[in-house]
Amino acid sequence: MLLSCTDVRKTFGDHVVLDNLGLEVAEHEVVALIGASGSGKSTLLRCVNLLTGIDDGTIHLDGEEITDPKVNPDLVRQKIGLVFQSYNLFPHMTVLDNITLAPTRVHGKSATEARELAMQWLDRVGLADKAKAFPDGLSGGQQQRVAIVRALVNSPRLLLLDEVTSALDPELVGEVLSMIRDLKAEGMTMVLATHEMGFAKRVADRVVFLDAGRVLEQGPPAQVLGDPVEPRTRQFLARII
Ligand code: ADP
Ligand code: MG
Repeated sequence: MLLSCTDVRKTFGDHVVLDNLGLEVAEHEVVALIGASGSGKSTLLRCVNLLTGIDDGTIHLDGEEITDPKVNPDLVRQKIGLVFQSYNLFPHMTVLDNITLAPTRVHGKSATEARELAMQWLDRVGLADKAKAFPDGLSGGQQQRVAIVRALVNSPRLLLLDEVTSALDPELVGEVLSMIRDLKAEGMTMVLATHEMGFAKRVADRVVFLDAGRVLEQGPPAQVLGDPVEPRTRQFLARII
């Protein structure tokens, strides 16, 4: 397994947000996390990226226990890309500078190497002509694709996507989805939180339904979304469709 979360418990005060959660993700697999608002999807992604500590349990990436306190979180984050709902590009920096910032400042790449990598990626996603533009000169969909490229230049083993299409106008969602599908075709391992079931159905190998910080049900998209076993999954799907 590329990612193994075992008995992960996360609390905020006396609020249990992740409750002995288990999740395994194989290399090249695309897993969609669904569940009501507040069910713990974002918290889980943040725990995997070590943005927040866990209270109990373990998380392994590629065989290494990344929740071991001796592990350097910066080295782990180099292997895990995380993209949020709001793209968080720096408005005062060009697209190219946004992308090369972390590789040069944090990950020790030379400016030339970082720029070459960034341009390769921008070219692949059809945004090479935007390299010198500032974020506000781009559409929301283009900005989100740049945010994904920014995560990809570190050549992560795992890409975590948190509601990456939620802030977009409907007509801009397609270009981001299509980028994610291309990444899937290239074998990128991804865990994505989404409330768009159409997206989950089209891109995911497996859908995981979180309920109150636990994995209540999981399986192929057609089964979980089309014929769920658990009453709570049915209720959730009935509410959002
Ligand atoms: P989801 O992404 O599924 O909507 P979240 O992971 O954002 O769910 O939130 C799960 C629960 O954890 C919510 O009840 C939320 O209020 C709580 N929570 C998340 N982050 C914090 C925080 N930093 N401090 C306190 N409570 C938090
Ligand atoms: Mg969330």
